Parts: sequence; structure tokens; C-alpha cells
Amino acid sequence: MDSRHFDLAVVGAGLNGSLLALASGEAGLATALIDRVSLKSLTEAGFDGRTTAIAYTSQRLFAALGVWDDLADQAEPIRDIRISDAGYDGRASPLHLHFDHREATPGSRDPAPMGWIVENRFLRRALLRRLADCPQVELVAPDEVIETDRDADRAELTLKSGRHLQARLVASAEGRFGSMREEAGIGARAWSYDQIAIVLVARHERPHRGVAQERFLPGGPFAILPMRDGPEGEHRSSIVWTERADLARRLLELDPPRFQAEFARRFGDHLGRVEPAGPRWWYPLGLVHADRYTDTRLVLVGDAAHGIHPIAGQGYNLGVRDIAALVEVLVDTKRLGLDIGASDTLERYAQWRRADNFAMVAATDLLNRLFSNDIKPLRLVRDAGLAAVNRVPALRRFFVRHAMGMVGDLPKLIRGERP
Ligand SMILES: Cc1cc2nc3c(=O)[nH]c(=O)nc-3n(C[C@H](O)[C@H](O)[C@H](O)COP(=O)(O)OP(=O)(O)OC[C@H]3O[C@@H](n4cnc5c(N)ncnc54)[C@H](O)[C@@H]3O)c2cc1C
Repeated sequence: MDSRHFDLAVVGAGLNGSLLALASGEAGLATALIDRVSLKSLTEAGFDGRTTAIAYTSQRLFAALGVWDDLADQAEPIRDIRISDAGYDGRASPLHLHFDHREATPGSRDPAPMGWIVENRFLRRALLRRLADCPQVELVAPDEVIETDRDADRAELTLKSGRHLQARLVASAEGRFGSMREEAGIGARAWSYDQIAIVLVARHERPHRGVAQERFLPGGPFAILPMRDGPEGEHRSSIVWTERADLARRLLELDPPRFQAEFARRFGDHLGRVEPAGPRWWYPLGLVHADRYTDTRLVLVGDAAHGIHPIAGQGYNLGVRDIAALVEVLVDTKRLGLDIGASDTLERYAQWRRADNFAMVAATDLLNRLFSNDIKPLRLVRDAGLAAVNRVPALRRFFVRHAMGMVGDLPKLIRGERP
């Protein structure tokens, strides 16, 4: 069987792996992208019912890599975010927090949105189309890594098909259930939230006007995310409805009228008549954060390094920033004629990313614990907290800039430049 040599072998062609392979290939690194499922199946309507909130700075990276042209027509800008606490009846507390996109860049005549909501199937399709045109990337799918042999000089991957690939560096973008992290002896903090996110598309009577809503219900957050209008002009939002796992399972089994009633009670009537449109999806929620992101000729990227609660819609945005940092480190190293898989190269990536990832892992975990309950004293404290932040423009601006990914030492791609 043939044995090819690559700079980088990316294992996993999910949202992170495919983006990493594209950024790496576009930067001139010979890259292999491997996934156990066929790439075409990743874009089929039945594969992934989610949408992703792409932060403002992640969008700059997509634009720099030429992916955004294919996405712009499918992306709905997020102009405002409204956060409130709510009881079992779904009724929101009058104390709330409102973020306005204009606060991030005061005085700007053309303020950027905080982000965009894009259907995952369109995101995957746009990435794969660009990959198909990238001569530096070889797509290896469906195939599966069954053995990895890494030493001081090179890494060799044995695939299920019998092929062998050699690379200077392997990136595990295998998602949170990947095996390479454990095989490398890298531990992780990991736990289940005992919650399930029910995901669906809702059709509603009135337009959402670009407002994303997050209501903290006792079982978990209920997010209403603005989507592009549907093919017949119907107004639509993407719903991420988190519930305790046992209750979520019962809800998912309800017949359509009873499911509609439960759903409408939580959604409320602020957008007029509302109904679920299309299938119900569900995702068990948990946290995983690797103790380290590197090993001999191995890096962890995206959910393989840190899988977080979707409460803030930031999991993929962290991965995007991982990718921007990693590719910049690799390109700089290669330009100097040095080894892109050497441990000091990988350490630069790990150091660049750890603080940002750790802060988001901790913040989302804390938010979920603080808000996903109906404990009266806690409820009073968090309502007062929301109202207090809402009254201080500097604090609101701080949070908006974080949500947009504008804080910290930003890699070139995140600034919209090629490395
Ligand atoms: C309900 C929900 C809503 C979300 N909303 C948002 C949001 O609004 N904004 C945001 O930023 N993030 C969001 N996220 C997070 C985001 O979806 C994830 O961070 C992202 O999808 C992870 O992608 P990944 O490529 O790292 O992993 P995965 O999607 O798990 O992909 C891993 C891939 O690797 C392949 N693979 C694994 N092992 C092997 C192997 N040995 N050989 C070959 N192939 C292999 C698998 O087949 C798979 O295709 C949300 C998550 C959930 C659950």
C-alpha cells in the first residue's frame, strides 16, 4: 500500500478538522484530512440539525479563507442579545440584560453585528467546497485511523483501508469522543451535565429583527437564535432547548400536539404564533477539557481539546481560534526552515490557546450551574446580577467584545489577514 508524506495529517473532518485542513492547505502545508464517514454525508440535511453562532472575529477568518462568499447569503446577523431568567412557566423575569451590537464599537457609522447564525449543513458544505479546490489538501474519506506511531522524527498513521500516511505532525480534530487523546496518555477534566439539548427550527408569525434570546429556565437555557427567513418567506429561529436529561427524553417522545404545547409555553408569544418546523434533534451535554493539548508530534484541536456547554454559543468559536493560532505557529516555523512537529513549536500553540480556552470552559460551566435551577436565593442573586450589568455600559461593552471574540492576543487569521 502507498505511503505518502505530509506536513500535517488532520484526523476528523467535522467543523474544526475541515477548517484546519483548509487553513493549513491554503498556507502551503501539504495536508491530509481523514474522516471515517464519507464527506458528502456530512452535508446531508439529516446529518446535523444545528445552527452555529459564528462570532464576529470567526467570520473574519472565514472571509480571509474565501469561505464566507459561499455563506453570506445563508447567514443571519445577530444584532442584539437579550438574556433573562424565567420560572417553570417560561415567563421571563422583568430584570434582564440587553446587549446591543453598537456597543462594541461606539461611534462607528457601520457597526458590525455581534455574529451570524448559520446552519451547520451550509457551513460544512462551504468548507468542503473550498477544500475540494485546494491542491495542497488530500481528502481521505471514508477511512479511519486505526493505529498511530509517533516518534522524534515523524508520525505514521495506519488506516483501516491499509494505507499508511506519514506526517511531521498529527492534529486530532476527532471531537470530544476521539481516541487519540487517551491513547497519548493525556488526561482530561470531563463530566456530564445530565442535560440534553433539544434542537429544532421554529416558524413564527412576526420577524425576530436579529435579536437572539436566552431564557434561563430551571432545566437549562432556552435559546432562540435568529435564522434567515425560509424559502416561502416564513420567519424562523433556531432553538436550543436544554432540559434535564430524563425530562428531555420524555419531551422528545411526545406526539406533535403535546410537544407543540410544551414548546409554545417556553417560547412565549413575543413573536406571535409559533410552531416547530421539521425534525427534533437531541444532543447530550457534557464538558471535557484536556490537561494538555500536545504530545510527541500530536496536537489537539477543537472539541478534542475542549468540549463545552452550548450555553454561550462559543464552542466552535474557540476551535476557530485554536486553528488560527496553530496555523500561524506552523507557518512561521516552516518559513524559518524548522520542524513544525517539534515540541517547542507545539508548546507555542498550547501556551497561546490555554488561557482563552480555560476562561470559556470555566465561564460556561459556572453559568450553567448558576442558572439551571430554581433555587430562590440564587434566583434573586442572579436576577440582581443581570440587572446590575445591564446598568453599567462599560460592563456591557466588556461582555459584547468577549462574545465577538475581540479580546486577547488575536492570531492573524482572526484579524482577517493571512499568516
Ligand atoms: C446543541 C449544540 C449547539 C451548539 N451551538 C454552537 C454555537 O452556536 N456556536 C459555537 O461556536 N459552537 C456551538 N456548538 C459547539 C460546536 O457544535 C462544536 O464545538 C463543534 O461542532 C465540534 O466540532 P469538531 O470538528 O471538533 O468535532 P466533531 O463534530 O465531533 O467531528 C469529529 C469528526 O472526527 C471524525 N473522527 C473521529 N475519530 C476519527 C478517527 N479515528 N478516524 C477518522 N475520523 C474520525 C468523526 O467522524 C467526526 O466527523 C454547539 C454544540 C451543541 C451540542
